[in-house]
Amino acid sequence: MDTSLNAARRAHDIVELAAAHPVDVLVVGLGVTGAGVALDAASRGLTVAAIDAEDLAFGTSRWSSKLVHGGLRYLARLDVAVARQSAVERGILVTHTAPHLIRALPMVLPFSAALSRVDIGLARAAGRAGDLLRAAAGTSRDVLPKPRHLSTVEAQTLVPGLNRAGLRGGELLWDGQLCDDARLVVGLARAAAGHGARIVTRCRALDTQGNVVDELTGHRFRIRARAVINATGVWASTLASGLELRPSRGTHLILPGTVLGGLRVGLTIPVPGERSRFVFALPQLDGRVYVGLTDDPLDGPIPRVPEPDEADVRFLLGVLNSVLREPVGREQVIGCFAGLRPLLAHGQARSADMSRKHAIRTDADGVVTVVGGKLTTYRRMAEEAVDAAVRRHHLPARACRTRRLALPGAAPPAELARVPAPERLVARYGTEAPLVAALGTQVVAPGVTMGELRWGVRHEGALDVDDLLDRRTRAGLVRTDRERALPAALAAQEQESRAAGQT
Ligand SMILES: Cc1cc2nc3c(=O)[nH]c(=O)nc-3n(C[C@H](O)[C@H](O)[C@H](O)COP(=O)(O)OP(=O)(O)OC[C@H]3O[C@@H](n4cnc5c(N)ncnc54)[C@H](O)[C@@H]3O)c2cc1C
Repeated sequence: MDTSLNAARRAHDIVELAAAHPVDVLVVGLGVTGAGVALDAASRGLTVAAIDAEDLAFGTSRWSSKLVHGGLRYLARLDVAVARQSAVERGILVTHTAPHLIRALPMVLPFSAALSRVDIGLARAAGRAGDLLRAAAGTSRDVLPKPRHLSTVEAQTLVPGLNRAGLRGGELLWDGQLCDDARLVVGLARAAAGHGARIVTRCRALDTQGNVVDELTGHRFRIRARAVINATGVWASTLASGLELRPSRGTHLILPGTVLGGLRVGLTIPVPGERSRFVFALPQLDGRVYVGLTDDPLDGPIPRVPEPDEADVRFLLGVLNSVLREPVGREQVIGCFAGLRPLLAHGQARSADMSRKHAIRTDADGVVTVVGGKLTTYRRMAEEAVDAAVRRHHLPARACRTRRLALPGAAPPAELARVPAPERLVARYGTEAPLVAALGTQVVAPGVTMGELRWGVRHEGALDVDDLLDRRTRAGLVRTDRERALPAALAAQEQESRAAGQT
């Protein structure tokens, strides 16, 4: 079946769903978890409707660090099961699901003057443990190379801006990096649509009985479903009473690439005075560098879009500058973003110390809620959530298939290397890159072409310019980029609706 999502398909799906044909599963929420659940259920042969009150990847899933973790951080807290699960899921994502969207990122952990001998010993042991996790998960060294010690000269060569005073080399570690977290969600939703799932954005669940409202028209209708799976992240308790979440805010800064001398490797900086907390400087495809992240409990109601605060910005710059020769100033920060982790409440632990385990909960009314975890482990969470729904509602499902399912555009690295399109497009669209390029190569803002905007409307379910600028492309991360790209996004929308009207 066609994997394209667009306004026409959405309108058709709403008519079908409102006509009261029952589906096996209604998935509420289309972040990485809900999109993963929709793909899991649809690929097992179940009929699926999956809705989001806003857009694909509207919530936390677009604000992550974009790391496909091996779980080292969890190992440091002796959370061995979570660490192993993360490493296994990382291997599946990089090798089978989305090799086009993920690259191996070398990360330098500099042994700066602030680190004690014990800290250095621990960092080196962590490198070895990370490699053991990789091996235990069955991920080849061709995919993620072996960590190794760096001499002082090597560390400085890889990260030219490092402060030399007291530097004693470093450790070179490897992890997976997504080109864009929102693109993973879009890929999952399209793959689910390819298996027949009805993917409907701007459709809000009013309860867990299937009553929904089309946010574009105000039309209320009911989606009849044998099972409902609540995958609404930090909003999960609005549909599952008694579920206690302790959302925690994580902030990132965006720096122009030039500020850190065109950084090509990631930088892992221990937070002074803490054992298992780090600030990362992460080079992106467009040359910019994201610096994150904070971890602070959120007080009060959940905002629609979280805002970073000035204290987060100062904290991140402070840790970054602790290892640099030339400090980065506030005026060099060109953008910031914040996201909310959907953490499960566990006693009084600090949010930075709270487990990233996920939970699957089946309520008395049969609604399954899947929450917590992280982007890297979405597939496992989805599998367990669908298993729970299948058991509870006796659904006619085949066994889970997602360990070997590839998203649209995915291909092995050798095949991707031969795709006749610019490297940046191949990293975002895989084998579909030439089709995107055919829709227009004009650059409308840093890292955004006209073709990507038109592709977003035609095949990726973008319904307005916000979807295009904030989720299908990420122009919205930097205010000036967004302003530059806006006229092109409007034009792309208009061109595509004219083209759709003619067919
Ligand atoms: C700062 C930060 C950095 C992170 N970095 C990483 C990382 O590098 N690697 C990693 O593996 N993990 C990372 N994570 C964790 C990861 O991002 C999250 O665990 C994951 O994105 C959660 O996805 P989700 O689908 O459960 O929730 P969301 O993405 O929030 O999706 C929930 C969706 O539900 C929709 N919704 C809500 N209410 C309704 C309703 N009534 N009807 C219909 N729809 C509704 C929302 O619009 C939203 O789209 C990070 C998290 C944060 C905050």
